[in-house]
Amino acid sequence: DPTEHPDWEIALEAESRMKTCYQLGEELGLTKEELLPYGHYIAKVDYLKVMERLRDAPDGKFIEVTGITPTPLGEGKSTTTIGLLQGLGRRKKRVTACIRQPSGGPTMNIKGSAAGGGLSQVIPLAEFSLGLTGDINAVMNAHNLAMVALTARLQHERNYDDERLAKVGLRRLNIDPTRVEMGWVIDFCAQALRNIIIGIGGRMDGYMMQSRFQIASSSEVMAILAVARSLEDLRQRIGQIIVAYDKKDRPITCEDLEVAGAMTAWLRSAINPNLIQTIEGQPCFVHAGPFANIAIGQSSVIGDQICLKLADYHITESGFGADIGFEKFWNVKCRYLGKVPHVSVITATIRGLKHHGVTAGAPPCPPGRPIPKEYFEENLAWLEAGAANLLHHINIVKKSGVHPVVAINVFPTDTPAEIRLLRRIAEQSGARVAVSNHWRYGGEGALELADAVLDACEQPVSFRYLYEDDTPLSERIEKIAREVYGADGVEYSREAEAKLKEFENNPKYRDFATMMVKTHLSLTHDPTIKGAPKGWTLPIKDILVYGGARFLCPMAGEISLMPGTGSDPAFRRIDVDVKTGRVTGLF
Ligand code: ADP
Repeated sequence: DPTEHPDWEIALEAESRMKTCYQLGEELGLTKEELLPYGHYIAKVDYLKVMERLRDAPDGKFIEVTGITPTPLGEGKSTTTIGLLQGLGRRKKRVTACIRQPSGGPTMNIKGSAAGGGLSQVIPLAEFSLGLTGDINAVMNAHNLAMVALTARLQHERNYDDERLAKVGLRRLNIDPTRVEMGWVIDFCAQALRNIIIGIGGRMDGYMMQSRFQIASSSEVMAILAVARSLEDLRQRIGQIIVAYDKKDRPITCEDLEVAGAMTAWLRSAINPNLIQTIEGQPCFVHAGPFANIAIGQSSVIGDQICLKLADYHITESGFGADIGFEKFWNVKCRYLGKVPHVSVITATIRGLKHHGVTAGAPPCPPGRPIPKEYFEENLAWLEAGAANLLHHINIVKKSGVHPVVAINVFPTDTPAEIRLLRRIAEQSGARVAVSNHWRYGGEGALELADAVLDACEQPVSFRYLYEDDTPLSERIEKIAREVYGADGVEYSREAEAKLKEFENNPKYRDFATMMVKTHLSLTHDPTIKGAPKGWTLPIKDILVYGGARFLCPMAGEISLMPGTGSDPAFRRIDVDVKTGRVTGLF
């Protein structure tokens, strides 16, 4: 009973009878060569070999999981993804999911590890939460190697004349030390490393300059790992990462620093997705963990590619609300994949929707503060008003032609009258609706959801992108603002306007993905505005360019590349049982 046991206890109990990776591989029909075991219970899967063998195999049905606009109360999208995987498993379907690898920062801070919860979890929990097979380490090493190359080059160009540089075949790059675009990465929330000075010391101690650390999940290398379609694609994108600019404003890339090959070498295993399992034994892949604003915020393209070949039903989680998660899944990830999704599951909670019921007087609930107790008591008026947020997300999904299925993720405090009301409102919008008790009862509790998804998968899909490949950037932004966020229009700062012109007129940027930067906590750019607001304009302050990932990021909000660790972080409760070596306290 998950109301009586913390997640890590449930996980530990399930781990005592988990399948070996060999059994998981066999059930997926993987050959011996395709399965790359990391111990007994975790394996990588050789994506090249799988794709070669199954190139012409038909694709499974493609299911995405997103949610309402997130609230500090937690909506349970990961838990629902895993619950649905378990539910489809109970229905004896060949099913896989692919989820993100959690970053050490949030796992050690306040969010926990995104392994699901209650009776819908993936295991082994400690391995999943604490580095898995080392992909994030590989990303960090690759990223930091670019910084090593840059800082060493700055020192050498300062210390040596052209003749000496030429002796080892180097030409002067004239890097501008005040225009270094990249920082270093670490996978924790370390606010003390946001702004630093490096290179203090003598002539041989580097180049003194201001620098910074960012969290690994915000690294452009991580962004690339998530969108790369092949090792070749990965290698090319790594080469195009802009590390700095020279004194004449020209970009200095990883290729210019002759470090792109070595960076790719660090990533050679990270490109293979990781295979673990749910507490009920269904195969769950884990691959990549990029930020959702400057990057795609989802598991990898390669992960979905191989799962669609291996399973009849494949679930991928795009996180956040449909305005951010689903929009990027729809217009960016599906483009890269060249696949048509069938169903989008919109995770909704009664308490979350009450929180969006501001027009009916629901009180605010600032992040980090205790949740007002009224949210745990019945309130049909707040729920009805807040349901406007859910209806907005259903409409976003409908615009893509994908079938929306609303999953009401039931919490112990929800009342029957509230559940009835929400079901009625959601059904009236034309979406399929399932009341889901997967947190409490695992796959058995997700059968209604599984059946709704199976039913939707049988319907034909008339999938269409929001914009075409050749739609100019300004029109893309306009469409996303109006049709996805519900804004009346877009307003550009002078700086953004100038960049818009530059990017639209330069053919180099024609195939760059549009990766909006906006808060996930509101449909608008203002995180404090809840519900489904009308009559507002989306401000675009700037447009960032990521030359390696090939993203243009219109900025409708701020991004912190290095979150901070709070005063009551999760690490306070994590320990190791020294007799057994088991990790306790993870969630
Ligand atoms: P998200 O993916 O939306 O961020 P998670 O799936 O990680 O959310 O869930 C957030 C937290 O809420 C987790 O600790 C999870 O165990 C808990 N949770 C999710 N669904 C339920 C539920 N139905 N009842 C109780 N707790 C839940």
